[in-house]
Amino acid sequence: MAWDFATPAEFEPDLQWMRDFVDQTLIPLELLYEGLDQQQLDRLWAPLKQQVKDRGLWAAHLPPEHGGQGYGQVHLALMHEVLGRSELAPEIFGCQGPDSGNAELLAVGANEAQKQRWLYPLLAGELRSTFALTEPHTSGSDPTGIKTRCERDGDEWVINGHKWFASNASVSDFSLVMAVTDPEAPPHKRAAMIVVPRGTPGMRVVRDVGSMHDPHYSPEGFLMDRIGGHSEVLFENCRVPLDHMIGEPGEGFVLAQKRLGGGRIHHAMRMIGQCNRAFEMLKERAIARETRGKPLAKQQMVQAMLADSYVEIEMARLLVLKSAWTMDTEGPFSKAARLDISASKFAIPNILLTVIDRAIQLHGAMGYSTDMPLEKMYRGARALRIADGADEVHKQSVARLLLEDVEANESGLPSEHIPSQRQRAEARFGHLLADL
Ligand SMILES: Cc1cc2nc3c(=O)[nH]c(=O)nc-3n(C[C@H](O)[C@H](O)[C@H](O)COP(=O)(O)OP(=O)(O)OC[C@H]3O[C@@H](n4cnc5c(N)ncnc54)[C@H](O)[C@@H]3O)c2cc1C
Repeated sequence: MAWDFATPAEFEPDLQWMRDFVDQTLIPLELLYEGLDQQQLDRLWAPLKQQVKDRGLWAAHLPPEHGGQGYGQVHLALMHEVLGRSELAPEIFGCQGPDSGNAELLAVGANEAQKQRWLYPLLAGELRSTFALTEPHTSGSDPTGIKTRCERDGDEWVINGHKWFASNASVSDFSLVMAVTDPEAPPHKRAAMIVVPRGTPGMRVVRDVGSMHDPHYSPEGFLMDRIGGHSEVLFENCRVPLDHMIGEPGEGFVLAQKRLGGGRIHHAMRMIGQCNRAFEMLKERAIARETRGKPLAKQQMVQAMLADSYVEIEMARLLVLKSAWTMDTEGPFSKAARLDISASKFAIPNILLTVIDRAIQLHGAMGYSTDMPLEKMYRGARALRIADGADEVHKQSVARLLLEDVEANESGLPSEHIPSQRQRAEARFGHLLADL
């Protein structure tokens, strides 16, 4: 009997340590670091990261040879559910995007010299990285259409193009840039992945674009001085040596795919952590606030909010855990895993938004105000219907995978067409009725 919904007992002490650390240290600290620059933040965070390393939980998504724990995806999912409660936690635990995904890409695509230079320092937290695929003037949902070019000139690659939403590019040490090497090649073999170190002449970070998560007017030249920015970047005859290409020309798409599987599930599980936090606020408010002489919790519509939230979060959590389990049992790139990962990727952000919205609603004006974390959580969560693939793109993948093994009935009629089914049933079982 393989179905088992229990948390592995040997992992529970670590999960409890993480819960305490996240709730008692990281969430309170989040309220105090506004206005600090990256150097100050790094000094503030260093002892916290050390605590995580001492506990053996740093970069736990990595295999042991890279300093991680070699946990399977189910363990990681349970861990990310806890980390998701705080937006600071992934950084403190060494598993924050885009670095974690970039490390996965480098681990599969880079040669040993490239790993020494970029992967190992990235894993140790000594470098920060950026992933630059999306462009303002082409559709990120269809990367076969990107326009940024990468052309060979002697011993160098020359990059020209325009990227944006290249997260952290204003403070990262290097960017992994996806650029077209051969526009005439088949669509999925046109692009390559190339490393551009910070400060390379010809790479210009134009600004950190304001967003719902971090609304600010962002004229040219506005840079945030800290992680969390989504940068607009221009490459103008930007030259890097030939050994800065990861893999071969034409392998960019395959490498881009490699960085997203685990990351999407960890993202989804962190969203469950956010759901839990919003749900805790919803429940507390329901019993604490009175209207018309009784607590909100006694109002039927509020009870429906509570019951619906519970069911939706449980369903979401089971879907993500099942996706993680499928990755562990059938492989991260198996069809079954790809189906569940895409399903989780569009389902969970919508549930998260709904649960946060209910919590805002029940807090009334206070929920809408910045006196509660809910409005910020809502703004942050909205990105998740777009980042790492828009809902529609994942729905399309789910539909495509679901239909791969489905065939139309030879007769041209639906398989469940009653008149023809009845005819077949009569031919098989008519004699039984005749005997009656
Ligand atoms: C917070 C945040 C961080 C990000 N970080 C990074 C990063 O670090 N690096 C990076 O390269 N990119 C990053 N992105 C960009 C992100 O990956 C893209 O925004 C996303 O892939 C969608 O691309 P697009 O914005 O060009 O939208 P488009 O591709 O133009 O799509 C616009 C909309 O069209 C609809 N649509 C698209 N395709 C279909 C379809 N097949 N069927 C039906 N409707 C469709 C969807 O509603 C979609 O939202 C980030 C985005 C956000 C919000």
